[in-house]
Amino acid sequence: MANIAFIGLGNMGGPMAANLLNAGHAVKVFDLVPAALQQLAEKGADVAATAVDAVQQAEFVITMLPAGKHVAELFLGEQGILPHINDSALIIDCSTIDTATVQRVATAATERGLAMLDAPVSGGVAAASAGTLTFMCGGTADAFERAKTVLQNMGKNTFLAGGHGAGQVAKMCNNMLLAVQMIGTAEALQLGANNGLDPNVLSEIMLQSSGRNWSLEVYNPYPGVMENAPASNDYKPGFMVNLMIKDLGLAMENSVATHSATPMGALARSLYASHGVQGNGQLDFSSILNLLRS
Ligand code: NAD
Repeated sequence: MANIAFIGLGNMGGPMAANLLNAGHAVKVFDLVPAALQQLAEKGADVAATAVDAVQQAEFVITMLPAGKHVAELFLGEQGILPHINDSALIIDCSTIDTATVQRVATAATERGLAMLDAPVSGGVAAASAGTLTFMCGGTADAFERAKTVLQNMGKNTFLAGGHGAGQVAKMCNNMLLAVQMIGTAEALQLGANNGLDPNVLSEIMLQSSGRNWSLEVYNPYPGVMENAPASNDYKPGFMVNLMIKDLGLAMENSVATHSATPMGALARSLYASHGVQGNGQLDFSSILNLLRS
């Protein structure tokens, strides 16, 4: 059993922290939203009054925040937690953020003698609840081995992609591909529906054919095909359009910096940005289907 501080209890962080509690760890939680804290308190978490209070006794400090600015502010801001973290603690940031912020925070942590891993995840809310996430880590092999003892309670696959920031690069590549596949899946299903095909039947056909992909398997974007998918629940997230726009922005910035050709990623970013400015930012990212419907 370990003493764990968990900060950021949203769609992903909430169920991840719950799985750590289920595994028998002592988890002290903090979030800016009182209702999120209450949910975890009901599952046995100790609620911290502040982020600093959460981390002081922790052996592992786990964060799951929206974007780089939140991570930088939490660790390095005026009320930042970095000076208050236990000397022997390991920091594991599971948020999906830019590699520049990872380098800034990891450098500051290293200067303080603390090990840090970037450990973004794949799998979505269902995998966070089921404890079957995939972790893509960046940092030292030693930090990775230490982290495995707690990551295994929240996920079933853990990879060390390289040094600080490498986990974020892997995640950025994965989510760019996910966006392209989700748009392609929505486009194909809508084309079939426009031709009078039943989206249930077309989904079954493509699942047994070469168009098979993750969106079809577990996250069908067409309403009514999959009972538990956000599409059948008014596109309640899940994974918000705004977060996908952020991830595609990270991929595009990186693609410019590395002189990479990413035409499909660029188009996916444009389509998600258009969908977002039409007031859909808080919906699940599979709602991109609505952009393609007349
Ligand atoms: P979310 O918006 O549901 O949750 C973020 C939480 O962080 C919120 O509860 C918010 O109150 C809290 N928070 C923000 N700033 C804080 C601060 N300074 N101190 C304490 N709490 C703070 O987002 P999410 O869907 O859980 O995503 C979190 C991260 O995981 C993002 O980087 C996202 O890109 C990534 N991700 C999400 C999914 C998904 O399916 N939702 C899948 C993989 C990765």
